[in-house]
Amino acid sequence: MIASIGFPVIKAERSKLQDMNLENLPFGRIFTDYMLEADYDKGEWKNVEIKPYQPLVMDPSAAVLHYGQAIFEGIKAYKDDQDNAYVFRLYDNFKRFNVSAARMEMPQVPEEIFVEGIKQLIALEKAWIPSMEDHSLYIRPFMFATDEMIGVKPSDKYKFLVILSPTGPYYARPMRIYVEEFYVRAVKGGIGFAKAAGNYAACLHPTEEAKKKGYDQILWTDPVEHKYVQEIGTMNVMFIIGNSVVTPDLEAGTILNGVTRQTVLTLLKERGLTVEERPVNIEELIEAYNAGTLKEVFGTGTAATVSPIKELRYKDFVMTFDIDQWEVMPGVKKTLDDIRSSKTEDKYGWMVKV
Ligand code: PMP
Repeated sequence: MIASIGFPVIKAERSKLQDMNLENLPFGRIFTDYMLEADYDKGEWKNVEIKPYQPLVMDPSAAVLHYGQAIFEGIKAYKDDQDNAYVFRLYDNFKRFNVSAARMEMPQVPEEIFVEGIKQLIALEKAWIPSMEDHSLYIRPFMFATDEMIGVKPSDKYKFLVILSPTGPYYARPMRIYVEEFYVRAVKGGIGFAKAAGNYAACLHPTEEAKKKGYDQILWTDPVEHKYVQEIGTMNVMFIIGNSVVTPDLEAGTILNGVTRQTVLTLLKERGLTVEERPVNIEELIEAYNAGTLKEVFGTGTAATVSPIKELRYKDFVMTFDIDQWEVMPGVKKTLDDIRSSKTEDKYGWMVKV
């Protein structure tokens, strides 16, 4: 069905969906039939349209290819038993997108384009939302600089796009994590809190090195002492110590303000845990581990949802966890999964109906 109101839709000749099995798809490789595209030029947004998913034509001098003005978001859509489509916490991602845009000296994307555009696109592509457990439709909004000139300055022109990718479980297996002591991801005053493409590029080499040592991901630490933990790959990190959940605070601007982080903290508070958002020193974690009070360690993120960590290595000290004994993380993951699959009441209004 093509939406009759909203942005213009250029119809695809044929849907690829009929050739697809949406079960257990690899993350981010399959894209749906349509994408949303908009251009920014001389202070205004224009040419907003939904069109068949297709390659872009870009000038080789496009500013993004040289100086990396590029940001993105990651959001998920779900379907309930009655075939209604929902986007999880869409407005939170919308706000964060514009926080990233401001830090990268890029224009704000208005709510009519980001929120309403995504709703229209999801309504059009509803059949692509997989209904199997742990499956969803991943939404990738992104913006980049398109000025055709190789001078270092903020671009005057930008492109905003939204593409969609049906996806199955991600990072499903428990992770082995390497606490990084040489490379850094983010510094105070830097761009760690922005979902800027360059943040991810900078992490690739250190992460590949950690993988060669047998680890799945890196736990980043502060750039001065390499003792205060930050976040993991594309996840925020949480520690259950006694009856508290301890997680790095957002103050230094070095970690992403994760939507799943906020969600899980809310759900943990509801379960009676004390939430401590503060600097978290690795020495403190080792002490708690030795005292037997560090019970669970896990990552939170849209792609990964809630992922257990079975091993955390700092220098030669290895902390291992018996995930089968955990109660908090599996409980909170189930509550979150139940909200997203509409099995439990959404009392916080997180599911935005399309
Ligand atoms: N940190 C980083 C660096 C990330 O890329 C992500 C994924 N967006 C997260 C944390 C988790 O954020 P969210 O829960 O909003 O997906």
